[in-house]
Amino acid sequence: MFEKVLIANRGEVALRIHRACREMGIKTVAVHSEADANAMHVRLADEAVCIGPARSSDSYLNKSAIISAATITGVDAIHPGYGFLSEDADFAEMVEEHGIAFIGPKPEQIRMMGDKLKAREFAIQCGLPIVPGSEALEDVEAAKKWALQIGYPVIIKAKAGGGGKGMKIAHNEQEIETAYMMARAEAKASFSSDEVYMEKYLQHPRHIEVQVLADSYGNVVHLGERDCSIQRQNQKVIEETPSPALNQKQRQEIGEIARKAVKQIGYVSAGTLEFLFEDGEFYFLEMNTRLQVEHPITEAVSGVDIVREQLRIADGAKLGYTQDDIVFQGCAIECRINAEDPETFVPNAGKITEWHAPGGLGVRVDSEIYSGYRIPPFYDSMIAKLIVHGRTRNGVLMRLHRALEEFVIDGVKTTIPLHQKIIAQPEYIDGLYDIHWLEDTIRNLK
Ligand code: ADP
Repeated sequence: MFEKVLIANRGEVALRIHRACREMGIKTVAVHSEADANAMHVRLADEAVCIGPARSSDSYLNKSAIISAATITGVDAIHPGYGFLSEDADFAEMVEEHGIAFIGPKPEQIRMMGDKLKAREFAIQCGLPIVPGSEALEDVEAAKKWALQIGYPVIIKAKAGGGGKGMKIAHNEQEIETAYMMARAEAKASFSSDEVYMEKYLQHPRHIEVQVLADSYGNVVHLGERDCSIQRQNQKVIEETPSPALNQKQRQEIGEIARKAVKQIGYVSAGTLEFLFEDGEFYFLEMNTRLQVEHPITEAVSGVDIVREQLRIADGAKLGYTQDDIVFQGCAIECRINAEDPETFVPNAGKITEWHAPGGLGVRVDSEIYSGYRIPPFYDSMIAKLIVHGRTRNGVLMRLHRALEEFVIDGVKTTIPLHQKIIAQPEYIDGLYDIHWLEDTIRNLK
């Protein structure tokens, strides 16, 4: 097994990876920006290397600084976490060229899935259903032509998109030009490629994704689905498994479809296939070739430690179990808690004066925060994930109310009050929500 792993990330995910390594007897190296010198994962790691100034582009995205840190500390492998360099095929390639294992899939697989048009081709080859869509759009005229063929409303998306950026909706021909120009500009700014394409805009879908694990020997299992339809600005807010919208037959079908597709392309490591689900039909959206923020709800119901599996797979181990060995127990929900004003969503960095995380049966909190910690203003505003597990959905909802109530975070505003409101809504309690529900309801939440 690896002796030493470098964690190329920050925040709760860096801590999550550190924990998995520790439990496997692996030493850890933290890399951090100047703004993160006091971060919890830096304090806990065996070694720590400062890789640059606060700005991500100068530190967490600075490939050569990270590779230098890895070489100096003599690590066997690098775990990229999520975000930052986790889906950067060039980085994965650089890591391998330096004789270091990349904890994730092969660079070619990252490259293919990072291109949404190529990912759609892959989906067609594997027989996965996809949303009707276009090829790359040359100009506004091409966009208009495709929109007529596909039928309004349409969504224009960045080919290299991610994190919900570079997507614009057009309901009619009058809106197409602005949507096209805006999507291009946003794509250029976020991904330095302004290539865009178009998809049919589904009006009331749910976002349902399937977690898979694949080793280097062609063994593939799926770990069930996650329903991530509670979103704001295309970003997930609350996730749950199993999805309240699927029956057992649909659940098994989509799991099996995902498993076969992953096997067909010889994918290795953990990955997630994202689908939209509307009127009983699934439509493949994309595959994320990395650990997901919401992975703990899958861990709760399947009992599988996904980060541990990523480490084992990267080290050449076999899965050692088959689909039949995976048994799902109960239900789990995750709330992403952000340091933001719960009404305006303006980020609220600052010093945490008091911190008390909830505990008890079925409650997990993944967070880098401690009392006295100062949240730097340079990064994502998510400061904690609250994951609640139990036998029934009703029981989990009661437990979630209790855990949110117990949470004490003083010094900054957080989205805890928003979560409390969401889970008290009748539609949420009944599991009757689609990807637009939160934004449509948010103003009226009491
Ligand atoms: P990203 O890679 O930026 O996360 P995705 O393609 O995964 O982008 O889409 C993110 C979210 O945007 C989805 O969960 C969904 O809410 C919305 N979305 C994307 N494509 C469509 C579509 N064709 N119709 C309706 N909503 C969509």
